Amino acid sequence: STPVTYSAGLAATAKRGIIIKGGSRLEALGNAKTVVFDKTGTLTRGRFSLNHLELIGERKTRREVLELLSIMEAPSSHPLSATLVSAAKAEGAIPLHGVSLQEHTILKGEGVCAIVNDRRVYVGNERLFKRLGMYDLSPHHVESARKWNNDGGTVGYVGIEGEGLGIIAMFCVTDTIRDEAHHVVTALMDNGVKVVMLTGDGEGAALAVGEEIGLPDSSIQSQLLPEDKLHYVSALKDFSSQKSVFFTDQRNLVVFVGDGVNDAASLAVADVGVAMGHGAALALEMSDVTLMDSNLNKLLFSMKMGTKVITTVK
Ligand code: ADP
Ligand code: MG
Repeated sequence: STPVTYSAGLAATAKRGIIIKGGSRLEALGNAKTVVFDKTGTLTRGRFSLNHLELIGERKTRREVLELLSIMEAPSSHPLSATLVSAAKAEGAIPLHGVSLQEHTILKGEGVCAIVNDRRVYVGNERLFKRLGMYDLSPHHVESARKWNNDGGTVGYVGIEGEGLGIIAMFCVTDTIRDEAHHVVTALMDNGVKVVMLTGDGEGAALAVGEEIGLPDSSIQSQLLPEDKLHYVSALKDFSSQKSVFFTDQRNLVVFVGDGVNDAASLAVADVGVAMGHGAALALEMSDVTLMDSNLNKLLFSMKMGTKVITTVK
């Protein structure tokens, strides 16, 4: 292939809506031998639909649960949040004025927490409720969660802290995989690139996505906190640089592709951090590359362009 200069390479990528912070980052993309993907919002669209909402213990009506979900999720920018807010709206469950919401906190990789009308409320995953000691589901409900999860759904819970309370509802949302994800992942693997998927989501949902995009189970890690993702990316970097002892220059670089606030640290520590254009502001700030329209084919294009600029410089 025809070699190109840094500026020609950057111009060609910019023309396609790929913003790269300098020629050396483009070159590093060409040298990458490992690409690590976040799942939600990166390999998938991050546009969920609410499939199931099951009440537990009949302490609240469906409408009250939807209102609570709407109140809890409105301040969060997580892809799950917009879905839950609009699902509530679609059923006319619009929270009344005069609801008091205090101490709203994002629990990264777990969910959200706030005090609503003087009661502490949590919305989040199994990990969160287990950590809180509030995961006291009946075998019937545990079985529902397992089934939803194995069908590729993301399962969440709504819980209220206090005497006689606890988990009051469980829900399942499903996401859609990006059209180009299978092609991009298989093209990378066919070119000898190691592909890894890291996610905070449950194992069932993670493996279901892996299967659809042709990624083996052994390349997938689920139920990770942001610091666990960071740990994996660092470990892959160490592994790669050990191998690069055999080279005089540093090869086998690690690329991380993500979109969330929970990906910011991984984007920063990777040799090349690639943010999806729709991603959180912090993710974009921490990255070296932005794919403006969040199309993963542009990652392949940039990596190919990266191999061409190497030829010029070396
Ligand atoms: P990913 O790594 O797949 O992008 P995150 O780390 O953002 O996922 O979230 C991990 C998990 O934490 C989600 O799958 C969900 O179960 C739970 N979670 C995160 N944020 C929220 C929220 N606002 N409401 C409910 N659950 C959430
Ligand atoms: Mg994500």
